[in-house]
Amino acid sequence: MIKLHDLYFKPFVSEQEIDTIIERMVNEVLADLQDEVPVFVGILNGSFMFVSDFVKKYPKPCEVTFIKLASYEGVKSTEDIQRLIGLTQDLTGRTVVILEDIIDTGNTLGEVHRIFRNENVKELKIATLFHKPEAYKKDFKLHYVGMDIPNKFIVGYGLDYNGLGRDLPAVYQLKTTQHMTNIVLFGPPGAGKGTQAEFLKEKYNLIHISTGDVFRFNIKNETALGMLAKSYMDKGELVPDQVTIDMLSAEVEKNADAKGFIFDGFPRTNAQADALANLLDGKDSQINAMIALEVDDEILVQRLIGRGKTSGRPDDADENIIRNRIKEYYNKTAILKDYYSAQGKYFGVDGVGSIEEITQRISDVINKL
Ligand code: AMP
Repeated sequence: MIKLHDLYFKPFVSEQEIDTIIERMVNEVLADLQDEVPVFVGILNGSFMFVSDFVKKYPKPCEVTFIKLASYEGVKSTEDIQRLIGLTQDLTGRTVVILEDIIDTGNTLGEVHRIFRNENVKELKIATLFHKPEAYKKDFKLHYVGMDIPNKFIVGYGLDYNGLGRDLPAVYQLKTTQHMTNIVLFGPPGAGKGTQAEFLKEKYNLIHISTGDVFRFNIKNETALGMLAKSYMDKGELVPDQVTIDMLSAEVEKNADAKGFIFDGFPRTNAQADALANLLDGKDSQINAMIALEVDDEILVQRLIGRGKTSGRPDDADENIIRNRIKEYYNKTAILKDYYSAQGKYFGVDGVGSIEEITQRISDVINKL
């Protein structure tokens, strides 16, 4: 992912793919023109990389020139095309191939046709690396199209966003959802995830999703999901993955405009972590960090027994169930440390101390993301 000015862009077409596309376009042009010596006319600024790579691959003699037109302001195509540098040579009787980086509304192409109207060229052909069929409003024929793309703003390989991005060797697409901060708050039962999440969600304007809380809400309201989950929760076991994943996805979808999430109690298995990655990927986003509260087992047991006296949670009332939950954590959940460590996203935080001290330790991690 890259950031240009205020916007984020994600990889869209790789250098290798661009190379293959140009190779194909060169062959198509060559098959049509055969021994004719064409004049390739690039439309500046955007097409400079495309023209350069195209003519390097063109195996027969050719001429190259440029005209300079300007149409873009920001990320929207404007109607108004300025002619900054026109044709500087006589092209009477020549076969001209326009090389464009991208054709979207077709306004620039309208200007190109106006420029060539009185030039008496033998033939005018249009080749474009990218074409946005949904945006195209004209009916000029496009003779060679590298790739049809959706009507989303792209940068790189000559194309810019307010001046930046032209130098990138690959093409990137504007992210539809902008940057989110997504944190997995991790740690054994009783580590203080829920308490910390309450402070952090205010501080960073994030949505807190606790799968345990959602299950308890469903149990209280006697929903089908609640009844199913209760049988597992009462024993301190994990609710089956698919049930939990579906529920979590629904909670995320309810908050489509969120600036990010604190996931508390999720993921607890590798399958859940994979599902979460897919879900966020669909939003052009990802988990930024797993922040793990580290607390000794015996302290956990004492904390949970204490909490059970006031919380009314049946799974906090019995020391054996508490120990089983901690065991489940080490058997099934602790492997997620490896999952996120492998991505360089694991941050351990000492979970013993005052609430404020621990919030500060977690904030130190978030502030550096
Ligand atoms: P918690 O409030 O996070 O301690 O969760 C309480 C109980 O809810 C757990 O012991 C599980 O039975 C169930 N639960 C919560 N989150 C999950 C999850 N991600 N996967 C499976 N079960 C869960």
